[in-house]
Amino acid sequence: MLANPLPGRPLIPLAPILSASSFRRAAGARVHTVLDAGNYRLVTSGRVAIALALREIGVGPGEQVLVPAYHSASMIPPVLWRGAEPVFYRVQPDASVDLKDLEARIGPTTRAVMVTHYFGFPQDIAPIRALCDARGIALIEDCAHCFIGEHGGRPVGAWGDYAIASSMKFLPIYEGGALVSARHRLDKVVLESAGAGFEAKVALNSLEKGFEYGRLPAVRAALSLPLRAKGALWGLVKQRRGGAVPALAPDSSDSSFNFDPRWIDKRSSLFARAMLKLAAPARIQALRRSHYARLEAAVQGVSGVRPLHPRLPDGACPWVFPLLVDDPEPLFVRLKTRGVPLTRFGTPQWEGVDATTCANSAMLARHVLALPCHQELKESEIAWLASTLREAISQ
Ligand SMILES: *Cc1c(COP(=O)(O)O)cnc(C)c1O
Repeated sequence: MLANPLPGRPLIPLAPILSASSFRRAAGARVHTVLDAGNYRLVTSGRVAIALALREIGVGPGEQVLVPAYHSASMIPPVLWRGAEPVFYRVQPDASVDLKDLEARIGPTTRAVMVTHYFGFPQDIAPIRALCDARGIALIEDCAHCFIGEHGGRPVGAWGDYAIASSMKFLPIYEGGALVSARHRLDKVVLESAGAGFEAKVALNSLEKGFEYGRLPAVRAALSLPLRAKGALWGLVKQRRGGAVPALAPDSSDSSFNFDPRWIDKRSSLFARAMLKLAAPARIQALRRSHYARLEAAVQGVSGVRPLHPRLPDGACPWVFPLLVDDPEPLFVRLKTRGVPLTRFGTPQWEGVDATTCANSAMLARHVLALPCHQELKESEIAWLASTLREAISQ
């Protein structure tokens, strides 16, 4: 049976949580991650990595950065932090880049373009790379949804001047992002520790998330007293720090779309870096692909819904299973009521971006319901998710 999480929480975890299986290896060929694409620095979030990429490129006031109209609102504040202006380009109905529109928006002050590989499905990146080279603008590959995998015979992230990743979307960690570059050194990106309070908070939060869904019961028993003492501990840590770091952890996709520049030069936690070392990309990719296939099979032949993409490309590692739904609101409510965790990527859109900016983005933000397919779903959980989805859409 499914574990019983806190009231109001979904019945199964939306994102990977720490489990005993997190440390298991997989046999088979080596699978690349975005960190194999080049030099890298491990920071505390994807949005911080975007800010660093823009700083490395030298983007400044009076300049423009092309950003997809279909976006996470967390992608925009780093552009504003540089004093630059975000200019939104269109996407196609399947979320692929509208290359004509992108090209038409390149102006004399355009310095960089951000391209997102939505849901772990790589964009057709070679023509975009060629366009950027021809026009002398920098390409930032947003790999927030594709930490793992390959495209065009290279690791994800190898095509951009810079790539950014959001490790917490793929690993059971509470913070984490990466700035990667296959083309440039990152010597000027100097990072420092965010302190002992942050280190402790990150480790304990990851454990707690796991406990909520019945993972690591032995560890939970061993830690129950220390966890109860945690509140008191934070009080102490905060007093001692005297407010040097504004919060004990950065804003993340979990909590908000905010961007706090005080996290810009902070190194990712020891815990997150250890998890990155221990993670087995081959296992993560195999499980995510297999869970994706289970959900794909569950919706096959049902009218009114279809996977956003007809096929999961070889070498891809999905972030979630994006389902295109003709009439999304009733299904959204039915799934939520049943305890299914859902993501609606692209909502909210940045202020001023709407259907007149890009009708396809508005359509995708409304009609795509994304379901988890991560590696830490247990067999009972993915089976429950597939059957609950099937039942809810057939109703
Ligand atoms: C989540 C996300 C980001 C930002 O990552 P964080 O780690 O949450 O800062 C950037 N781009 C896209 C497409 C995202 O979904």
